[in-house]
Amino acid sequence: MSHDPNCIFCKIVAGQIPARKVHEDEELLAFHDINPWAPVHVLIIPRRHIATLYDAAPGDEAVLGRMMALAPRLMRDLGVHDGFRTVVNTGPNGGQEVYHLHMHVMGGPRPWKRG
Ligand code: 5GP
Ligand code: ZN
Repeated sequence: MSHDPNCIFCKIVAGQIPARKVHEDEELLAFHDINPWAPVHVLIIPRRHIATLYDAAPGDEAVLGRMMALAPRLMRDLGVHDGFRTVVNTGPNGGQEVYHLHMHVMGGPRPWKRG
């Protein structure tokens, strides 16, 4: 399934619900987290619905690599130069709440609310 009509991040991809976007390209979207843990907290997602990292298949290596490669670019663009944290929560024990693959990228001066 490339689009799940019940998925909140697919709705953001489709423009059905708003998000503060910071990056868009053919494969990826990045936007500010609605409940930030850090002064800068963005989520990088593939446009295509992949539920979790468990569901990433052979052939998804490129999109996974692009997500990782985009993180430092976005942080620099957003003025974060003193380090950042990247987190991918997977499944219930991983604390995943939204079942559309996403990478949290958090930075900015501490203290942070969480993380
Ligand atoms: P998870 O726990 O699945 O790794 O993280 C899901 C993240 O998505 C949370 O940090 C939460 O604040 C964020 N989030 C959930 N719903 C929305 C939304 O509608 N818009 C945005 N921008 N972020 C959301
Ligand atoms: Zn989705």
